[in-house]
Amino acid sequence: MLDPTFRCRSCASPNVTLVLSFGRTPLADGLLTQDELTEPEIMESLDLVFCRNCFLVQITQTVPPEILFCRSYPYFSSVSKSLREHFAASATSIIDRYRVDRDSLVVEAASNDGCMLRNFVARGIPVLGIDPASGPVAKAQQDGIDTMCAFFTKDLARNLVAQDKRADVFLANNVLAHVADLNGFVEGFRTLLKPSGVAVIECPYLVDLIENCEFDTIYHQHLCYFSVTSLVNLFRLHDLVLADIERTSIHGGSLRLFVQLNGYPSERVLRLLDEEQQAGLNRPEYYRDFASRAENVRDRLVTMLRDLKRSGKKIAGYAAAAKATTLLSFCNIDTSVLDYIVDLNEFKQGHYMPGNHLPIHSPAKLQEAPPDYLLVLAWNFVSEIMQQQQGYRDAGGKFIVPIPSPAIV
Ligand SMILES: [Zn+2]
Repeated sequence: MLDPTFRCRSCASPNVTLVLSFGRTPLADGLLTQDELTEPEIMESLDLVFCRNCFLVQITQTVPPEILFCRSYPYFSSVSKSLREHFAASATSIIDRYRVDRDSLVVEAASNDGCMLRNFVARGIPVLGIDPASGPVAKAQQDGIDTMCAFFTKDLARNLVAQDKRADVFLANNVLAHVADLNGFVEGFRTLLKPSGVAVIECPYLVDLIENCEFDTIYHQHLCYFSVTSLVNLFRLHDLVLADIERTSIHGGSLRLFVQLNGYPSERVLRLLDEEQQAGLNRPEYYRDFASRAENVRDRLVTMLRDLKRSGKKIAGYAAAAKATTLLSFCNIDTSVLDYIVDLNEFKQGHYMPGNHLPIHSPAKLQEAPPDYLLVLAWNFVSEIMQQQQGYRDAGGKFIVPIPSPAIV
């Protein structure tokens, strides 16, 4: 039963249609300590809906950020080599394209440990990072990256403008989908931008999610799932222009948006809008098909795992990623199917997955108690994982990749 008081996060229309209900789901990244296993756990419904007015796909639940982001281990962007390289290349292209120099100001919301901004600092360009996580902010400051510990809001933008701080470039990587006050965030960067400024925003692309059946990227931290159509409608509410767009392969397929106060949409924007129209992204049938494909992946994966268990095989999971919570919960996979999960992140080792209470170990466990099969829960890094685990493969170990379609490799 959908919450009847729900209003679209972008256009405030009550006219939303249910796409897929995941039922009551534990909070992704809500890893538990041994002591917490006996305590009551937070479970929240997870319902994906489609707005028939502005075509934004979104979940209806908003878990308060202080609950959602109170992780016991810090997340540092700079730990990931592929993210570091992605940001370095992105910064260089922005500097060249917009002639960013020592007289410019680059502001980034959700700047984490300065993984992106350090590329501007290295070229002598003034920056300001804004992030609510104290650990990564302290690391950024130590490295000489001017960063304040706060959430980016409309009010914060007004305060910065009052101090004569206006942005030539505003950056927001993988944060737009997380903000509960979507319109406040957009109005905030509109306020902060100089008339000639540009906002460069990266977010996962709905079309990649739907086409590759990446249903496990739906969890409580991700409130919105953007198409180009829904973004144009959102920016139009704030008199902003989606001037250009690029598609990138990061996080299973993302968009890089270039948003300005003036100008016109590029050919690329118009082409993507046209493609979305042709594909039917503004019609509920498109989403009904996705929901039935997701259920089909679930049923086939569960059958595959049960058959392997019945023939006496041992199965473990790889990566206690946020998306693992949705996949395991939606497929009802627990300790009767998987023996344990391994993860490279030391902060996660020794903890337990929320809901199913699967223990998380170091990958060394794969040698101590080798499974016959390894279910890859971070399928977006599958080639990296298979390389790392060459020894396990050489010893005859097999991988199960669940998305876009369950396969043994
Ligand atoms: Zn809407």
